[in-house]
Amino acid sequence: MCKDHAPRKLVLLRRLTLKLLKRESSFKVGGKAGRFQAGWDTHLPSLNMQPPYIIGKSWKPFALAGYNVLMTTTHHWPVYGHDWAVEHLQKALAHGRIRHAYLIVGTESVGKETLARALAQALNCTDPDETARPCGECRNCKKIASGNHPDVLYSELDPTTGALKIEEVRAVMSRLALKPYEARYRIAIFRDFDHARPQTQDALLKTLEEPPPHAVLILLAPATEALLPTIISRSQVMTLRGLPMEAVRDILMQQRGADRAQADLLARLCGGRIGWALRALDDPALLEQREQALSLLEHLLTLNRAGRFALADDLSKDKLALAPLLELWQTYWRDVLLIAQGTSLTPANKDRYDSLERLAATLSPDEALAALQATRTLLHNLSLNLNLRLALEVLFLDYPGLRRS
Ligand SMILES: [Zn+2]
Repeated sequence: MCKDHAPRKLVLLRRLTLKLLKRESSFKVGGKAGRFQAGWDTHLPSLNMQPPYIIGKSWKPFALAGYNVLMTTTHHWPVYGHDWAVEHLQKALAHGRIRHAYLIVGTESVGKETLARALAQALNCTDPDETARPCGECRNCKKIASGNHPDVLYSELDPTTGALKIEEVRAVMSRLALKPYEARYRIAIFRDFDHARPQTQDALLKTLEEPPPHAVLILLAPATEALLPTIISRSQVMTLRGLPMEAVRDILMQQRGADRAQADLLARLCGGRIGWALRALDDPALLEQREQALSLLEHLLTLNRAGRFALADDLSKDKLALAPLLELWQTYWRDVLLIAQGTSLTPANKDRYDSLERLAATLSPDEALAALQATRTLLHNLSLNLNLRLALEVLFLDYPGLRRS
C-alpha cells in the first residue's frame, strides 16, 4: 500500500484515539469534575543524561531498590505512598509550622492532588485528637473529600485554550482573601499551575509575600521549568516520585481486590502513577486509549513527509488531547531507547515488545534519544503559546523513518 494513500485508516485511528483521550480527559474525582492529562512519565531514567547513555549500568529503577510502600507506611492519611511527604506535613502540623504556600511537583496521576486534599483535610479536621487528623469522618473531612467544601477552592483551566488564565487566578485569590466560612483555613489548590503564563503567575506574588493568616496556597505542577523563580522560592517545594511497581501492585490487590494478573499489568503500565492505575482498574477504556495512542504513533512512523504534515494539522486542532498522547509516546520512545541500547530492563510497554524491538533494530540509540527528547520538549512547551501545527510538524520531522519511506 502506498503510504501517501493511507489517510482513511489514519483518520479513523486518530478519531478513535482523540475520542478516547477526550473521554479520559474529563473525569470526576470525589464529585469534583476535573480534567485529566495522562502523565505517562515513568520511573525510567531522566533525560538529562549525557552520552554515552549507560542507563543499564548507572541507573536502577527504584522498584528494585527494596522500597516497599506498604511496609513503610506509618501514617493514616488517605494517600498511597509518598510517606516522606506525609510525615513532613504531619511534623509541620504538630509544630505549628505550616507554610502559606506549597508547590507539589510530580507527573500526572502520581498523587499531587490527593496529597493536597489530604493536607486541606488535616488543616481543617475537627477531631479533638490532633494526631488523628485528618479523621475522614468529620464534616470538614467529608466535604473536602467530596470536593464541596466552601473553604477549599480549586482553579480551573480555560476549556478551550487549556490555559490557567489570569482572571481565574485573580478570582480564586480574591475568594482566598475572605475569612473562612466554616473551617480554620481557606485553601486554594491550583491544578496545572504550569499552564499559567508568567504574568498570570505574577498575580500570586502579592499573596505569597503577604498572605492572610488563614490562607494556604497549594500549587500543583508536573515540573518546575515553566514556573517563575519567585514563585518557587516562596513555596515549600515537595517533589513526588512515581511509586515502585511492587507497591502499586500490592495496593491494587490489597486495597482494591484486584487479581494478581490484573494488578501486575496495571502496575507495569502505570509507570508509578498510582492514580492512573486505580482509575484503569475501574475503567478498562483507559487501556484501550493507551493501545490506540501507541498504534497511532506506530502508524505515524510509516508515513512520509506529506502524511506526517497532514497528521500534524489534524492533531493540532485538539490541544487538550495532545498532552496525554505525547506522554504515552514518551513512554514508547523510552522503551525503544532502552532496547536500542541493549539493556535488560523490562520496557514499560512490554506488551508491545515485538514492535518496540523491530523499531529499535532500525535505530541507533542517538536516534531513539532524539525522538524521545523532541517529544518531551514539545510536551513541556505545550503550555506556551506556540503554533501547534508547526510544532507538531517539527516533531514529526524529527521522528525517524523518513529516510526509509
Ligand atoms: Zn476530620
